[in-house]
Amino acid sequence: MSTLPDIAPQPERLVWQEATVVAITASTPRVKVFRLKPADWHGFTAGQHVDIRLTAPDGYQAERSYSIGSAPDGSGTIELAIDLIDDGEVSPFFHEVVEVGDTIEMRGPIGGHFIWRAEEGGPLLLIAGGSGLVPLMSILRYRALAAPEIPTALICSFRHHADWIWRDELLRRAAEEPHFSLFATLSREPAPVEGARRGRIDGALLDAALASLPAPPKTTFICGANPFVAAASTFALDAGIPFASIKAERYGG
Ligand SMILES: Cc1cc2nc3c(=O)[nH]c(=O)nc-3n(C[C@H](O)[C@H](O)[C@H](O)COP(=O)(O)OP(=O)(O)OC[C@H]3O[C@@H](n4cnc5c(N)ncnc54)[C@H](O)[C@@H]3O)c2cc1C
Repeated sequence: MSTLPDIAPQPERLVWQEATVVAITASTPRVKVFRLKPADWHGFTAGQHVDIRLTAPDGYQAERSYSIGSAPDGSGTIELAIDLIDDGEVSPFFHEVVEVGDTIEMRGPIGGHFIWRAEEGGPLLLIAGGSGLVPLMSILRYRALAAPEIPTALICSFRHHADWIWRDELLRRAAEEPHFSLFATLSREPAPVEGARRGRIDGALLDAALASLPAPPKTTFICGANPFVAAASTFALDAGIPFASIKAERYGG
């Protein structure tokens, strides 16, 4: 098991800084992935997020949190995946205005609970709803670099096939990584889709994910909108997963 270079302790004081947008890609029609290079970056731990602050010409400010989706990999850059909320303030700005070369105000990394380091071990159960996949993707990518032998199951739920973020990478990882199993489900997709089930997360899907692991999960990470996290936590507790081993992060919405 290797220790990657930019796993860092939480900074003592969070300071706003400029981050340059170095790449933008469309992951789905409603999710864009932004790679940022913060001016002063000392690394992060998988699962953490950053705060973004926008300032209008009249001084009005809006702050939102975004999880880091990339692995801590020593590159000095981080990836954010931002879901477009049509009537929102911040996500439409990212989708419609931000371009490569722009600078964005940012602070972080933030978060000391919803994190995972390879030395904590596993097995891991990851449960994501929509863009709740982002911090779990960081954990998954980091685990593949640092500790691929740790058994991991990911349950991810999207509404439609077109909403499935990082679909190709997840299918590839499930095919290539012997200790990783993927359980994707599409809650509003009328037609069958390769590699995914249809419907919402339920007890049967959770049981299937648990059966793919050689032992009960040491830690279960759940992330998504409030109702998703509430439902997934209930299924996890019903399946016998101890409360103390569940870490949840809620995105609002
Ligand atoms: C720790 C943390 C990490 C987060 N990470 C991510 C991330 O990786 N990617 C990401 O896209 N978002 C993430 N979010 C959510 C993000 O902070 C914003 O809430 C989201 O981008 C909406 O902001 P907005 O300014 O566009 O909309 P707002 O102006 O805040 O909201 C406009 C309207 O949309 C509704 N709304 C807000 N959020 C949602 C939602 N998620 N789904 C549906 N309706 C919603 C509101 O109720 C409101 O009616 C995270 C939140 C937290 C707390």
